[in-house]
Amino acid sequence: MVKLTVLGSGTCVPHKERGSSGYLLSTDAGSALFDCGNGAVWKLEKIGIDYLGINNVFITHFHPDHTSDLIPLLFATRHPYGKKRVKSLGIWGPEGFVEFVEKLRSPYGEWVRPEFVEIHEVGKKKRKIDGLEIKTFKTVHTENSIGYVVRSGEKKIVYTGDTGYFSGLRQAASEADIFVTECALPDSEKMAVHMTPSDIAKILQESSPKKIVLSHLYPSMDGRNLPEEIRTLSGNSETEIIVAEDLMEVIA
Ligand SMILES: [Zn+2]
Ligand SMILES: [Zn+2]
Repeated sequence: MVKLTVLGSGTCVPHKERGSSGYLLSTDAGSALFDCGNGAVWKLEKIGIDYLGINNVFITHFHPDHTSDLIPLLFATRHPYGKKRVKSLGIWGPEGFVEFVEKLRSPYGEWVRPEFVEIHEVGKKKRKIDGLEIKTFKTVHTENSIGYVVRSGEKKIVYTGDTGYFSGLRQAASEADIFVTECALPDSEKMAVHMTPSDIAKILQESSPKKIVLSHLYPSMDGRNLPEEIRTLSGNSETEIIVAEDLMEVIA
């Protein structure tokens, strides 16, 4: 069984219903967190997941809405209040990630240097990490931003992180059981480094993932019927289009 729980479907903009990016992937092999934006750690507690039981965290890029809860995660792992990690936590990110975490130690010192934590750069090669097959792809967002293609048994789960549209996304989405994509802004606010419903439609004209989860939604996406907009633009009626909400579960 593969279950994706949306911890944060929003952005850097404070929103009463949407927190910053975080996705929990639960499989028979354990659980992994994708991105760790503000609020992600307490939401794990809210849904009854022990943060000390997470095997790995995978970061897409260094913007604060994707990384800021690494600080409380590391601090809590150092001071687990009577509990203790038994297995080391892997925290993985794009090129430059080791230096990024090292720099957090400049203001926070030993508070963010717990035992049982290993910091890695995930690299470009396909690799097996605690039962998950992980492959990354470059995204159009920051100099070193990446997305993840994850395989667990027969299931393919893709997480784009933040990105502008590029044609490789069609390949990434192809045959995905769950394709979690940013769909940050309406077409009227189009930016090169984020996607809009028209961009998602371009992906769905060529690819039909089983489920597409639209996330990283700015407040200007409130109140829109995104599935209908995208179905009309793409002509794709095969893919189930889901608008992410915080604490929503999607099963593959
Ligand atoms: Zn973001
Ligand atoms: Zn970003």
